[in-house]
Amino acid sequence: MKDSPSFLAKQWLRALRRRLLAWYARHARDLPWRRSRDPYLVWVSEIMLQQTQVAAVKPYFERFTQRFPSIESLARADEQEVLRLWEGLGYYRRARQMHQAAQTLVRRHGARFPRDIESVLRLPGVGRYTAGAILSIAFDERLPILEANTQRLFSRLVAYPGDPGSAAGQRALWAVAEAVLPRRGAGRFNQALMELGSEVCSGRAPDCQRCPVAPLCAARAQGIQGRIPPPKVKPPPEPRHEAAVIVRRRGRVLLVRCAEQGRWAGLWDFPRFLVETQDHAPVEPQLRDLVRRELGVAIAPGKHLATLKHAVTRFRITLDCYQAEYVSGPNGKLDPQRVRWLQPSELEAYPLSTTGRKLSRLIGGCTGARASCPLRCGQDGRAPGSRKAV
Ligand code: SF4
Repeated sequence: MKDSPSFLAKQWLRALRRRLLAWYARHARDLPWRRSRDPYLVWVSEIMLQQTQVAAVKPYFERFTQRFPSIESLARADEQEVLRLWEGLGYYRRARQMHQAAQTLVRRHGARFPRDIESVLRLPGVGRYTAGAILSIAFDERLPILEANTQRLFSRLVAYPGDPGSAAGQRALWAVAEAVLPRRGAGRFNQALMELGSEVCSGRAPDCQRCPVAPLCAARAQGIQGRIPPPKVKPPPEPRHEAAVIVRRRGRVLLVRCAEQGRWAGLWDFPRFLVETQDHAPVEPQLRDLVRRELGVAIAPGKHLATLKHAVTRFRITLDCYQAEYVSGPNGKLDPQRVRWLQPSELEAYPLSTTGRKLSRLIGGCTGARASCPLRCGQDGRAPGSRKAV
């Protein structure tokens, strides 16, 4: 930052705002959530866009807001339906927290979005960035934002050499985000910053030739824009072997609710386990033991149905899927909040894990082409354009 003498000087700030807003007026993408300043719609879009690409979010945003056009309609909804509409978008905690937050807004704020940041920050799933984005875009409150795109953009503009995610980096970059905000029009300005970070000052190869603020950029002046922010060292992916089992009982299949702390909390799946046997040892005996131990149900494992490969965080998972017949058990009643026997045709209404949806399709639970299904998703259970399985 020291190498950029004019950085944050009045003239520099004026030039930055003028150049950025002029560029945004010509290049802003027409995105569905930009057609309104309704705080509810801004909120939904901001939550969906967390760690998710714009192209993936668009169809989800349109379906979700058609089904739940207001805070009240979302608050009244069944969580299962909320998750079903979110299915394939990943990070399902976001959907559950937004559903809870909608109920809080109805209870405490008369189904209106509050304008004070303290109340907004108390909502589940809303942090400083999201609160600033909603309040600046919807109400033009003068609040800064800092997310992946602006973090990268600010780091380069001021040639911040450290890790932007560290405590020191966050302090420095939030200070930049506050300093650059104009007195009026903060919402439009914040959107312009995010757009520039996303479309021009992108991760691997910033397009400085096309950048409206290039003459003001300290990293470019020093020729170090390709090294800022410093690349993260990712640990190598870890292979992991799991098995799923489709247990049939008189035309129904056994479904379990995913663990609260797990990757698919709140969704449903076929019973699924980490395989602990040695390479090439048969998986079926372990499956039989695990289903009995976990669910109290005795099964007779049958043929291997499919092998699915997918990635979750650092794991590269190979999922072997088996069929099995129900034999007996459990002694008591199954908890319907945790375990259910369902007709394959009922699976279409249930929010399923990514691989659960693929398996449901294999057994005829979802053809991906039913006219009655509101989701009209791709044949793999995800909307066209959505990203890889999580
Ligand atoms: Fe990013 Fe290049 Fe623009 Fe600097 S000049 S803000 S590095 S695109």
